[in-house]
Amino acid sequence: MEFIIFGSGPGLPELDKGLSSIYVHHQGKRLLFDCGEGSSYHLLRHGLCQDEIDAIIISHYHPDHVSGLLMLIQMFYLKKRSKKLQLFLPERVADFEAILQFHYTFSQRWPFELHLHPMEELGAIYPEVQAFPTDHLEGYKELVEELRLPNEMKSWAFRIDNWAYSSDIVTTDCLAPILQGLDTLVVDALHPELEQILKLKGYGIRRVILNHGLSPELEEWLKHNDNGNFIVAEENVPYRI
Ligand SMILES: [Zn+2]
Repeated sequence: MEFIIFGSGPGLPELDKGLSSIYVHHQGKRLLFDCGEGSSYHLLRHGLCQDEIDAIIISHYHPDHVSGLLMLIQMFYLKKRSKKLQLFLPERVADFEAILQFHYTFSQRWPFELHLHPMEELGAIYPEVQAFPTDHLEGYKELVEELRLPNEMKSWAFRIDNWAYSSDIVTTDCLAPILQGLDTLVVDALHPELEQILKLKGYGIRRVILNHGLSPELEEWLKHNDNGNFIVAEENVPYRI
């Protein structure tokens, strides 16, 4: 397996960081996990043409994870993509289709088929990829109920073989079902408390890649402690397992 972190920055844009997106090449399949602003630029930069990505998998709808998706789809149809595209969405698939139409982006006019799926269908199409719900959006519960919104507050982490990507999380505890036997974990190092990040040391993971920014406490800790198997994410370099 090879993966490239296109964007390791937090939700607040930084000059030298991209927004969330990870490209994974595994057993002949090319997957894009999250699609922050600038993802189409990153595909061009890495010579990945319009037909190479098989599926796009969106962990949750915060803009730093999805803001590049419409442009990427626009690039695919303007470049006359011919291969079917599987798009896995965290929730509210019909509403996403309406957003495409709102943007005058009609799949009926494209040279390729777009298949939209709820995340729950991921395992049926890509059995090698497991999706696990996380606690990232639970803090919106009260507001969503108060406003009577249809938001389902779904956010997902993913595992392929001995590799996993947490996307955004409140605690690393919520990842417990996917942490055993991992070689590499790409983890949100911004939101969880320091103690939660350090808890990962107990799982014997060979390499923990600190992604999506660093909390101030973690940044301080890294200055004064042996990082061991914790490394800060580097963008646009291939990692291999
Ligand atoms: Zn985020």
